[in-house]
Parts: sequence; C-alpha cells; structure tokens
Amino acid sequence: PFGIKKPKSPVSNQPSLDKTSFVANVSHEIRSPLTAVNGFIETLKGPAGDDPSKRLRFLNIMDKETQRMKNLVSDLLSLSLAEVKQKQRISGSLNVILIAKEAVEATQKIAKKNNKTLELRVKSPIPEVTGDTENIRQVLINLLENSVNYSHADSTINIELEQFDNTTDFPEPSVRIRIRDKSDGIPEQDLHRLTERFYRVDKSRSRNVGGTGLGLAIVKHILLRHEGDIIINSKLGKGSTFDVFLPID
Ligand code: ADP
Repeated sequence: PFGIKKPKSPVSNQPSLDKTSFVANVSHEIRSPLTAVNGFIETLKGPAGDDPSKRLRFLNIMDKETQRMKNLVSDLLSLSLAEVKQKQRISGSLNVILIAKEAVEATQKIAKKNNKTLELRVKSPIPEVTGDTENIRQVLINLLENSVNYSHADSTINIELEQFDNTTDFPEPSVRIRIRDKSDGIPEQDLHRLTERFYRVDKSRSRNVGGTGLGLAIVKHILLRHEGDIIINSKLGKGSTFDVFLPID
C-alpha cells in the first residue's frame, strides 16, 4: 500500500504515567465532595429533612463542598489555558503597579473576612515589562489568596514591588514582586514540591479553605511562559516569602 505515514506506535498511544495519575487525582478530588453532597441529599430526604437546625447544618456543608468543586473546575480550566498559552508568544506590556493594586482589590474580601491586612509598597520606580496582564494578575491573586488562607490570624501580608539590575536569585534586570506572610511556615523538604499539581503540605487544611492544590502549579506555568521565576523561602514559626521575578527586556 502507498503511504508514508507510519502507523502510530502502541507506545505513543499510551497516555504518559503523568497524565494517568493526573486523571486519577482529578477523579479523586471530584469524587469526595460529590460523595459528601450525595450523602447529605439522601439524609435530607429522610426525617432529618424536617429538622430545621439539621437541615441548615447539612445545607451549609453542601454549600462548602459544591464551592470546592467549583474552585476545582475553575482551576483546572486555568491550568489547561496556561498550558496552551505556554507555547504562544507574549506581546502585551504590563503595568505591574496597577496589576498589583487590582490583585489586592480582588483578594480584599477574603482578607477582611479572615481579619487579615494587605499592605502594598512600591519601593522603586517600576518600568513596564512584557507580559499578559490577566495571567500576571492571576499569579498575584493565587499567591495572595494562599497567604490569606495559610497565615496567622489577624496578621498582615506585605506586597512589595521593586526593580533590580540583577540578584543572586535572578541574575538579569527584573521587576520583583515579593509577597510576605506570617505563618507556621513551610517545612524545607516540601518547598520544592509546592508547584506540583495537587501537592499540599496539609491536605485537610487546604481542603478546609477551599484549596484545590493547583494554585501554585498555575503560577509556575504562567511564569515559565514569561521567562520569569518564583523563589519560595520559608522559616518555621515565622512565615514565608514568595518572590516573583519578571524579566525587563
Ligand atoms: P491549595 O489550593 O492547596 O492552596 P496551592 O497549589 O496554591 O494549592 O498550594 C499548595 C500547597 O502549598 C498548599 O496546600 C499549602 O500546603 C502550601 N502553601 C501555599 N502557599 C502557602 C503559604 N503562603 N503559607 C503556607 N503554606 C502555603
């Protein structure tokens, strides 16, 4: 037969282990809130449904569990968009100060609810850098939300913007966005795994705050596309510093 196209090898047809475990993870993450909601529906269909205080308590749990599923779907979409976009060239220019203000604004509501204060400081003139505004806003919102969620009660989260010619962490001209929080800190051995999909230091704590385990994976993808970087430092009992570097071209 005529043809130059090689039949697909069975090996290349097999999903990579990474993809298989990703699908398994996603299924698991969806199944647990779904099982909970399903269970409460069954319970409410019985006599418990006639008890107003039980009804309210179960509805509140169902509310929280559906919110978790919504967060998961929206983070999955963001992650897949970030992966698709990674191959595309970036052409826009960023007003980093404005984006930081918008990210603070967007996080203000959950910060207030948790009695946390967000403080933005611009420590030097900030030049325009090339980037995707929506992407970088999302990076900052993800980081700020984490700081709000994992920091000590009533604490302050600092956001500092500064321009550098070069630093040991990023040896070329850049704008650094530093986010500092006060918390129990992150153990040294976990730091390098935080940007893995679904990696969480404390699973139940993450779930409790509506976390998906995807926030930092999205951050990593976006920064890779921008040829930037994120450096995470943490001190047990003190808190963490997340340094985002965006190159100045
Ligand atoms: P999640 O949705 O669980 O917050 P992320 O990918 O955003 O997922 O973060 C992964 C994990 O890293 C979190 O579950 C948490 O254990 C840890 N983490 C992230 N940000 C912070 C922070 N500011 N302080 C302490 N731990 C953090």
